[in-house]
Amino acid sequence: CQLDERKKKKTMKSDDVDMYKSPSSTPRTRDEFLQCAHSHIRGLGLDDALEPRQVSQGMVGQLASRRAAGLILEMIKDGQIAGRAVLIAGQPGTGKTAIAMGIAQSLGPDTPFTALAGSEIFSLEMSKTEALSQAFRKAIGVRIKEETEIIEGEVVEIQIDRPATGTGAKVGKLTLKTTEMETIYDLGTKMIESLSKERVQAGDVITIDKATGKISKLGRSFTRARDYDAMGAQTQFVQCPEGELQKRKEVVHTVSLHEIDVINSRTQGFLALFSGDTGEIKSEVREQINAKVSEWREEGKAEIIPGVLFIDEVHMLDIECFSFLNRALESDLSPVLIMATNRGITRIRGTNYQSPHGIPIDMLDRLLIIATSPYTEKETRQILKIRCEEEDVELSEEAHTVLTRIGQETSLRYAIQLISTAGLVCRKRRGTEVQVEDIKRVYSLFLDESRSSQYMKEYQDSFLF
Ligand code: ATP
Repeated sequence: CQLDERKKKKTMKSDDVDMYKSPSSTPRTRDEFLQCAHSHIRGLGLDDALEPRQVSQGMVGQLASRRAAGLILEMIKDGQIAGRAVLIAGQPGTGKTAIAMGIAQSLGPDTPFTALAGSEIFSLEMSKTEALSQAFRKAIGVRIKEETEIIEGEVVEIQIDRPATGTGAKVGKLTLKTTEMETIYDLGTKMIESLSKERVQAGDVITIDKATGKISKLGRSFTRARDYDAMGAQTQFVQCPEGELQKRKEVVHTVSLHEIDVINSRTQGFLALFSGDTGEIKSEVREQINAKVSEWREEGKAEIIPGVLFIDEVHMLDIECFSFLNRALESDLSPVLIMATNRGITRIRGTNYQSPHGIPIDMLDRLLIIATSPYTEKETRQILKIRCEEEDVELSEEAHTVLTRIGQETSLRYAIQLISTAGLVCRKRRGTEVQVEDIKRVYSLFLDESRSSQYMKEYQDSFLF
């Protein structure tokens, strides 16, 4: 059965990938995207005038494309290019993903960033357009302003007036000094459900959520009298007299549209946010959410933050996906779409037509295209040096020269892979600095792409078809 599967894979045309679906579509958040071969990239390495420095923030060379990316970044920050699309095109290993990473890093945590590879949208669990919809909505943030009755402050005094019947609770007044205003506030309105006098004393910092009556102190929260009893504490409760809370605190949360969809989807429920297994979301739910969000915007309660959706290997998308993207970009709830490809003229999947990068002409027409070019020897050397520092691997001068040559003659990515493996070989022989011998060893153990192809050609008769 496995052999049949393997044969099936081998004889598949590239267009049949839809039939052989990947287990799930998993767009990545900024943090997940950053934990990888690009962890050394800290930004685009630009100065205040948006001019790229030769080596800065982990970025080396590729000046023209970094300059262009800097402009895109500024426009994203100014909220000017929602619904626009950018294509980063260039040969493999020329830093397209690194530039997208630089943009992600420079945007800061408040701007949503979602990344996925073109092939990831072909999933068994959901249709490709649903996967794209979810990725789009993950990249749109909604900043919700909420006036809450949560108030945080330092307890100045607790007054207890008289015992309340039944519970042993006492009526009293809690006076707080808020950390922000340095002013004393009386907490009034309804009742603070429970408050242990033993545990809250003048000088403590507490938070009270008046909607739930939850009182938190030192990171613990209590809601009910019996919680204290269960802890064996001698309980005394304070109940506040009537009166208005004098200050309300404005709290701002940023959530993605997708998160709002999932929470409001009856079939999924908010727990799906933790499992990641959100399945398909009904279009009615999305329509209702869009209407609600636009209502909040009109009332000044919410603000849309268009983030970035990065689709790597965009040539893997098919004509239906491109048509979906074209339409989705026109919507007023749209992120900035950044795509990357290393393909030249190739067939648009799902058609018999060829086009630059396998992208339909009408889509290409609306793109801002940034080109990347191959690295010089000096740049390759610098990138490898930065990667060695990142991976904490010391290289001798000669080993560095040999690795740079490998990077130039095979690929930068292959040379980067050899750093950690050579580092391990070096440690095993109890060395502290990777030498040429260590590099030679791993070079002979692991094939680069062209040696691997050569090997396949030589031994193709022994492989299964
Ligand atoms: P592909 O077309 O194969 O997807 P790519 O153009 O996206 O390749 P990257 O994956 O960005 O290439 O680059 C390969 C490796 O080199 C990564 O580890 C990346 O972080 C690093 N790199 C590439 N360009 C730069 C650069 N200008 N400065 C620093 N590191 C770089």
